[in-house]
Amino acid sequence: MRTHPVVVVGGGVIGLLTARELALAGREVRLFDQRHLGREASWAAGGILSPLHPWRYPDPVTHLAKASMEAYPALCESLARATGIDPEWTPSGLMRLGEDERTEAQHWAERFAVPLESRHLADVCPDRAIEGAGLWMPAVAHVRSPRLLRALAAELRQLQVAIHEEAEVTGITRTHARLTGVVVNGETVAASQVVVCAGAWTRALLERYGLALPVRPMRGQMIVIQTPVGFLKPMILKATRYLVPRRDGAVLVGSTMESAGFVKETTEAAREDLIAAAYGICPELAAYPVTHQWAGLRPSSPQGVPFIGEHPEIRGLIVNTGHFRNGIVLAPASARLAADLVLERDGTLDPAPYGLDRPLEGAQDAPVLK
Ligand SMILES: Cc1cc2nc3c(=O)[nH]c(=O)nc-3n(C[C@H](O)[C@H](O)[C@H](O)COP(=O)(O)OP(=O)(O)OC[C@H]3O[C@@H](n4cnc5c(N)ncnc54)[C@H](O)[C@@H]3O)c2cc1C
Repeated sequence: MRTHPVVVVGGGVIGLLTARELALAGREVRLFDQRHLGREASWAAGGILSPLHPWRYPDPVTHLAKASMEAYPALCESLARATGIDPEWTPSGLMRLGEDERTEAQHWAERFAVPLESRHLADVCPDRAIEGAGLWMPAVAHVRSPRLLRALAAELRQLQVAIHEEAEVTGITRTHARLTGVVVNGETVAASQVVVCAGAWTRALLERYGLALPVRPMRGQMIVIQTPVGFLKPMILKATRYLVPRRDGAVLVGSTMESAGFVKETTEAAREDLIAAAYGICPELAAYPVTHQWAGLRPSSPQGVPFIGEHPEIRGLIVNTGHFRNGIVLAPASARLAADLVLERDGTLDPAPYGLDRPLEGAQDAPVLK
């Protein structure tokens, strides 16, 4: 069965990291993307390496997030060394404004040994005239998502992964209950196993094989305000809106949550909303120009728990999707888990909570986590 390569469907952060894990384990890998690598949700992401309000999530999300957060510094260093493209892993800390949910947050932080303190914004951000207090998470870092994706793609090429762009996978082939390949642009490509990492498009691909996963597109829009280098140091989260300061002075403001199907256009209403939110957190931002706006389609899932597992009836068909708001932070551990399943090796995470046939109470419409 291992005479054929493993096929990875989708070249977002999940597919790229899954392909990397498999290639590093010595498997021959072919990766197909219907458009271009790393141009969808993963490219649009703010790159925060933590769920927002992490105590609101179920444990399976925290387990993946913790393992990934630990993996990120070495991953980024290794990518930068191998490719010359630095994903800019930056441990800036995240200030979550507001005194509510303190008890839940502290309980969660103690259970998972995550540093969390009550602080005033003036303490962690003394250079700016910003007011407020809340929960300070000093260990939270961010990466520059487009750079992470470019570095991953460059490393995959070095690892001899065969990358095919503008190559849509429209189906799978099988003999009885065993997968034998995929159909790409009308041609059959043999595969010993397939890992579907097709983000918001996963459901459309797998539905006809009896797998109607509750994964739907959830649009998110962001803007950028260009400030001088060093203007803002920590990330700041207030309710559903946040600021992420890049090393070059760009301050990302995110993000909306919109159920708009597969429509990826940006809107004036979102731009105004995000500008108002940014000025509400840091009034000094009003002195600087808004330079960019973009949108991406998150693969939503109930409670934000991704689906990582083998098809209950088709052997060799594995899925890694549904990372919703947290695909960047959850990616390294999710890729490791998916690779464990492909390679049939023991891993450190229990796959059961991510299984494709796990019970989903009232999950017909994936709930929105705010
Ligand atoms: C505005 C915004 C901000 C975000 N901020 C953060 C953040 O700060 N931190 C964080 O952790 N997460 C964040 N996210 C969420 C994160 O971006 C997603 O969870 C993650 O990118 C999902 O990765 P993916 O690889 O599954 O999907 P994608 O990046 O969408 O990749 C899926 C790929 O599959 C390809 N594909 C689909 N169907 C097929 C097919 N049939 N054949 C071949 N190829 C196919 C697509 O072309 C695409 O390239 C944010 C998302 C948005 C939109």
